[in-house]
Amino acid sequence: MSTILTYIAISDGKLKRSSLEVLSHCKSLADASGASCEAVVIDANASSFIEGIQKYGASKVHVVEDPIFKNHMNTPLLKALANVMNSVNPSVFAFASTEGTKDVLGALAANQNAAVIADVASFELIDGGVKAKRPVMAAKIMNNTEAKSDKVLVSVRSGSYDLNESPESAEIVNIDFSMDDSEMKSTLREIISASGDTIDLNEAEAIVAAGRGVKDEDGKALISELASVLKAGIGASRALTESGVYDPSLQIGQTGKVVSPQLYIAVGISGAIQHVAGMANSKVIVAINKDPDAPIFEVADYGIVGDLYKVLPPFIEEIKKIKS
Ligand SMILES: Cc1cc2nc3c(=O)[nH]c(=O)nc-3n(C[C@H](O)[C@H](O)[C@H](O)COP(=O)(O)OP(=O)(O)OC[C@H]3O[C@@H](n4cnc5c(N)ncnc54)[C@H](O)[C@@H]3O)c2cc1C
Repeated sequence: MSTILTYIAISDGKLKRSSLEVLSHCKSLADASGASCEAVVIDANASSFIEGIQKYGASKVHVVEDPIFKNHMNTPLLKALANVMNSVNPSVFAFASTEGTKDVLGALAANQNAAVIADVASFELIDGGVKAKRPVMAAKIMNNTEAKSDKVLVSVRSGSYDLNESPESAEIVNIDFSMDDSEMKSTLREIISASGDTIDLNEAEAIVAAGRGVKDEDGKALISELASVLKAGIGASRALTESGVYDPSLQIGQTGKVVSPQLYIAVGISGAIQHVAGMANSKVIVAINKDPDAPIFEVADYGIVGDLYKVLPPFIEEIKKIKS
């Protein structure tokens, strides 16, 4: 029986939602094709995450636990992933498309002589491989691509699939890991966190994004208040990160983060192609802009034409009422 394996990433001591979305999809592919749906978790406290992973249908959870995985380091992660592939021999190894994944995917493919399709919006199994849809040209075009190989690695954009609980009592397989200091190519000295918003935009269920229409501290305060009532992350267009109004880590778009939350509220953002490239995959898009012809309305599910300084206060009040 072939195996579809999902890598479960851990961030800040939590299971990454985007990995569980990928696992949910792999479970349905495995059920439909008769393959085995398995997962691997690699962390300093990997075994503490098994219960959470079992909820999403993995029949086997491979566990690599070692203090070296306290922080993301490419060399040990690559070695652990290669060990896991050697031991499990999956036909498909699926990842959430995170910054960490981007760092190691190519190297793992080379190490394992596997085919790789990165950053897809969806994928399915075909005879002898995988077929995927991949957004290209700033998400203006969907590219259909196929990889035919006995081992295919695929990374999936967050928000591409829904979470589907399907509890299993999984078999736990501990995979030995050891790494000599001499094998390390770099040393982690210090982690300097970005000074931006604390909600990880890649994992946020809702994002309030500010554009050049947000002109001053009053505007920023409205954005913060809306984000706070929605428990949303704050993002920004390049106009506001380049001018120093928001931290560069909050930039969304072609040269910023690619996000796909359940709800994206674009406030005072025109909808330039380079911005849309980073948020078009969001489930529900709301745009607030005073220009009725702003291109952001072409991708929005709901649009409010008006001055954000007048629209946001009653909008926030209504949400507060609904929440209470
Ligand atoms: C190679 C390259 C890469 C790029 N990468 C990115 C990227 O990753 N992310 C990104 O965002 N951009 C990127 N850009 C820049 C992009 O082209 C746009 O310049 C940028 O997105 C514009 O930001 P904006 O929508 O905030 O500003 P603007 O285009 O100036 O739009 C401001 C909007 O606010 C509205 N507005 C003004 N006042 C109000 C008000 N009071 N109430 C309501 N609405 C109001 C206006 O009607 C307007 O639509 C890139 C550009 C290049 C060339």
